[in-house]
Amino acid sequence: MTAPSALASTLDLIGNTPLVLLKGPSAAAGCEIWGKCEFANPGASVKDRAALWIVRDFEEKGLILPGGTIVEGTAGNTGIGLALVANALGYKTIIVIPENQAREKMDTLRALGAELVTVPVAPFSNQGHFVHTSRRLAEETPGAVWANQFDNIVNRKAHIESTAPEIWAQMNGRIDGFTCAAGTGGTIAGVGLGLKEFDESITIALTDPDGAALYNYYAHGELKGEGSSVAEGIGQSRITANLEGAPIDTQFRVSDVEGLEWVARLLAEEGLCLGLSSGINVAGAVALGKQLVASGKRDVRVATILCDTGFRYLSTLYNPAWLEAKNLPVFPWLAR
Ligand code: PMP
Repeated sequence: MTAPSALASTLDLIGNTPLVLLKGPSAAAGCEIWGKCEFANPGASVKDRAALWIVRDFEEKGLILPGGTIVEGTAGNTGIGLALVANALGYKTIIVIPENQAREKMDTLRALGAELVTVPVAPFSNQGHFVHTSRRLAEETPGAVWANQFDNIVNRKAHIESTAPEIWAQMNGRIDGFTCAAGTGGTIAGVGLGLKEFDESITIALTDPDGAALYNYYAHGELKGEGSSVAEGIGQSRITANLEGAPIDTQFRVSDVEGLEWVARLLAEEGLCLGLSSGINVAGAVALGKQLVASGKRDVRVATILCDTGFRYLSTLYNPAWLEAKNLPVFPWLAR
C-alpha cells in the first residue's frame, strides 16, 4: 500500500489530484474515459492551480509585497483559489464577480475573507464588464496587483507544468485524446501544450458549450456563438492570450441538457457530485472517444477535467425551481 503523502505546506495540497476511470462514460464511448479530479483541490476547483502559479509569479518578479492585495475578476472559482492562496501567503484579495453567478460562490468568497464586488452582467466590450472593473480597481488600489487570469499566460503555465505531466504519469504514457471546455482557456491550452510535449499524436479537442464562440472559430475560423448556456466558468467569445497557439485538433459542441445528463448520471451511478462544466467536459470526452474508436484506433483512452464540486451549485443545478425556470430538466430524484 502507498500511504497518502505528508506535506510541509498547505499550498502543496494544490494539484496532484487523482485520476479516476468513469464507468458510464467509458461504456457509452466504447473506450476508457478518465476524469481528473480537480474538485479535490483545497478550493474544490481546477482554478487553485492557476491561482497558485499567478501569485508565485508575482512574488518571483517582486510585484507584490507582504500584506499586498490581489485583485481579480472571476466567475468565482479563481477568486476562491486566490483567496486561499492569499491567506496562506499573507495577502488580501478583492474579487469582482458578475451578479448572476451562483450564490454559493459569493457566500464562499466572503467566508474565505475576500472583499467582494458584484457588478451587473455586461458584454466584454462594455467597460463595466467584471474583467475591466477588476483591472481598474487594481490600478486604483495601493499595493495591488491584477491577476488577469484571461490574458496572463502564467495561468496556462500551471497546466503545462502540473496538470499535463500528472495526467501523462497517471496514464502511464498511454493516452490518445484529451478534451475540456474553455473559460480563460488556461486548462485546454496548457494541458494541450503540455501533453503534446510528451506525445505529439495525442488528439486535443475543445469542447464548447452552447453560446460560446470557440467551436465556430476552430471549425470555420469565425468567432461566432449560437444559443446560450447556464454553465458557469466556461464559454469564451474571444481568443484570450491563454488560448493563443493552443494546439486544438478538433472540436465538439455540447448543450446544457447533454451536460446535465452526465452530471445526473455521474452522481446517481458513480457517486460524484459535480458542476455543469464537468458534465459538458464528460459529454465532450465521450464524443472524442467515439470518434477515435471510429477512426480505427484500438484500446482508446481519453482524459478530461472534473472541474469543480457540485456542492457549489445547490441553489442552481440541484434546485428544481431554478431548473424549471430555465426550462432545463430536473434530476429525477429531485422532481416533485
Ligand atoms: N469550469 C469551471 C467551473 C470554472 O470555474 C472554470 C474556470 N473559469 C473552467 C471550467 C475553465 O477553466 P479555464 O479558465 O482554465 O479555461
